[in-house]
Amino acid sequence: MLDKVLIANRGEIALRIVRACQELGIKTVAAYSSADANLKHVLLADETVCIGPPSSTESYLNMPSLIAAAEVTDAVAIHPGYGFLSENADFAERVEESGFIFIGPTPQSMRLMGDKVSAIRAMRESGVPCVPGSDGPLGEDNEENARLAREIGYPVIIKASGGGGGRGMRVVHSEASLFNAITVTKQEALSAFGNDQVYLEKFLTTPRHVEFQVLADNYGNAIHLGERDCSMQRRHQKVVEEAPAPGITEEQRARVGERCAQACREIDYRGAGTFEFLYQDGEFYFIEMNTRLQVEHPVTEMVTGLDIVKAQLMIAAGEPLPWKQEDIRWYGHAIECRINAEDPKTFMPSPGTINLWHPPGGPGIRVDSHIYSGYAVPPHYDSMIGKLIAHGDSRTSAIARMTTALSEIVIEGIKTNIPLHQEIFQHAAFKNGGTDINYLEKRLGLS
Ligand code: ADP
Repeated sequence: MLDKVLIANRGEIALRIVRACQELGIKTVAAYSSADANLKHVLLADETVCIGPPSSTESYLNMPSLIAAAEVTDAVAIHPGYGFLSENADFAERVEESGFIFIGPTPQSMRLMGDKVSAIRAMRESGVPCVPGSDGPLGEDNEENARLAREIGYPVIIKASGGGGGRGMRVVHSEASLFNAITVTKQEALSAFGNDQVYLEKFLTTPRHVEFQVLADNYGNAIHLGERDCSMQRRHQKVVEEAPAPGITEEQRARVGERCAQACREIDYRGAGTFEFLYQDGEFYFIEMNTRLQVEHPVTEMVTGLDIVKAQLMIAAGEPLPWKQEDIRWYGHAIECRINAEDPKTFMPSPGTINLWHPPGGPGIRVDSHIYSGYAVPPHYDSMIGKLIAHGDSRTSAIARMTTALSEIVIEGIKTNIPLHQEIFQHAAFKNGGTDINYLEKRLGLS
């Protein structure tokens, strides 16, 4: 096993990683910014190193500082968590060149899957269904692009190859606005991502977001852990996630999941990863892969009984996957609510001191959070302060447990989006399951 792991992240995920390491007898180093000295995982880790001032660019995104922190503490591996440097192939490469293990895939597979055009091409080649679209980046020939869009059928969406975080996309409803949309998206992509490549795909009007979790080791073994539904989104940010996805059949899970596992074998993928699909009219369309641990991994853990973070650590230590596909079983239903320090109506961040914190409990309830009474949520980072997860033997039972948990939870001193969650869990459409990605914004009157 690994001797000592440096955690290049903060908040609930850093605490989640400390807990997994402790369970496996791995020593931990918390690398923290000066705004985060009182974070729970910093207080619980074996060693701590301040890596810089509050600004992320000078701390959690500061590669030399993180590598120096690993050097001075004799860590053998670095866990990047999610966000920050977790999908940065240059960081993974520098970590490895400095003699440390990067807990994640190789820089090569991060590069391949990080560029959407090359990711889609690789997935097409290994038989993963993709959205109908241009096979590669769009060229300069307006006539050819117009012919392609006509063939695919409007509406279409122009997407930046290097895009991320819901940026670098433009929907086009008719040929009249096609050329202008391509030009503007190219310009935006160049200034935002340093790469002006754009591609075109069919714009799906009522899709759901369904994603598959995979695990792969260094020896060509890859399995899938089934799917999650993350359609409850606002501005492309997930708000509620669940596993399994309502209405997905065992046959679909086995077929699409195995395609994803097979794609991992073909691209020599290693570690945990997620294949994101849009799902409409019974068909799956690959949109991108996330080459890291995801925020919503707990719902998969709750229904499979596996620990994905421990699996990441074991894979990084060079152990073969201890499970075959037929060992993976799914039980019941799990739902996760992302708890954010924000105004539930305006969505403005609400940092500040938490005066009182009473976590909910009871059967099937899991709370992944770093907050405590007296903790001050700093204004410098993402507003997510925790995740509330409910598991039950059916979706109805998971919803009932979550509803009770949401009524018990007490967070005083800051505003949170708990009232929004309470409202969502009352919606008949949500209770029925299978709402599409436009549902929440429509309900909120945002579109
Ligand atoms: P990002 O890397 O920015 O998250 P994605 O390719 O994952 O970009 O797309 C983000 C979101 O944009 C999707 O979850 C979906 O809501 C919407 N989207 C992307 N492609 C399409 C499409 N072809 N049709 C409809 N919606 C899309």
